[in-house]
Amino acid sequence: MKLLQVENLKTTFHIDAGQVQAVRGISFHVEKGESIGIVGESGSGKSVSMLSLLKLLPDNATLTADNILFDGAQMVNTSQKAMRKMLGRDIGMIFQDPMTSLNPLFTVGEQIIEPLRIHQKLSKEAARQRAIEILRMVEIPSPEKRLKQYPHEFSGGMRQRVMIAIALSCSPKLLIADEPTTALDVTIQAQILDLMRDLKDKLNVSIVMITHDLGVIANMCNRIIVMYGGTIVEQGTTREIFYKPRHPYTWGLLRSIPQFTEGEKKKLISIPGSPPDLLRPPAGCAFTSRCPYAMKVCEKQPPQSVALSETHQAACWLMHPKAANHMREVIG
Ligand code: SF4
Ligand code: MG
Repeated sequence: MKLLQVENLKTTFHIDAGQVQAVRGISFHVEKGESIGIVGESGSGKSVSMLSLLKLLPDNATLTADNILFDGAQMVNTSQKAMRKMLGRDIGMIFQDPMTSLNPLFTVGEQIIEPLRIHQKLSKEAARQRAIEILRMVEIPSPEKRLKQYPHEFSGGMRQRVMIAIALSCSPKLLIADEPTTALDVTIQAQILDLMRDLKDKLNVSIVMITHDLGVIANMCNRIIVMYGGTIVEQGTTREIFYKPRHPYTWGLLRSIPQFTEGEKKKLISIPGSPPDLLRPPAGCAFTSRCPYAMKVCEKQPPQSVALSETHQAACWLMHPKAANHMREVIG
């Protein structure tokens, strides 16, 4: 069963210099209880596409889509006001930096209890009990005491646990996590990912996890969507993306995962060059200027998405039957 279905989503920012085409027609879906990862460099459109769905865009942005179906309801024209009601109740969000999303002036307890009172109409005492229960669920020790403390009294990892608690407090159907572990050190990052994995199984919530690091989602997500230059260049099951990647950009991302062998960090290979200017998006494949396999056609025409299996699609001219001749020339 599909929880979220997005078809041909486009988001444009109108600035003095012109129009920035941040998201350029993406389509994907999320099944109930499934977790998907959206991966790409900064500026690839991953956060903007999620903010578009949630109607959290600034005034200078416009959004169009053929369909945004959430739990069967059409949301293309849902107002910001109606969306705000859904946020927290049907959809929870976790951001990169919990310090900016938590209010420093209120205790953690107040920040968990308030949404419970609003969305679930719980009494004060029932909301307090529920708050204790969810702090326990995210493995925060002595929750009764912790409820009375302020965000600055928590460590970075503990603050992110609080954010997860708030996001899950009203039992949402979908949890969107935007780089939830990027600001944390590696050990804490692993603990938070473990926690999210556990909670996903326990609560049967669907998760969309946004990250620039494929390594983060390897053990967490059922499927992966790879974004580049405001488009989806490849999507497939985690297995397909890791073992049968077909897009040169995905190959680059896989090479840039840090490898730890016997405590020694291997050299990280990053993809040379920089992402396209979406004020003037390229006519052809957005990856052309950085792609070692680029052909003449890549510059002129955008590649169509090709279905490689029921779950796996990629958009690259290399999959065209005639590309084999070109590859022979490149490899020699
Ligand atoms: Fe490279 Fe061309 Fe494929 Fe784009 S379409 S990724 S430029 S080979
Ligand atoms: Mg982002």
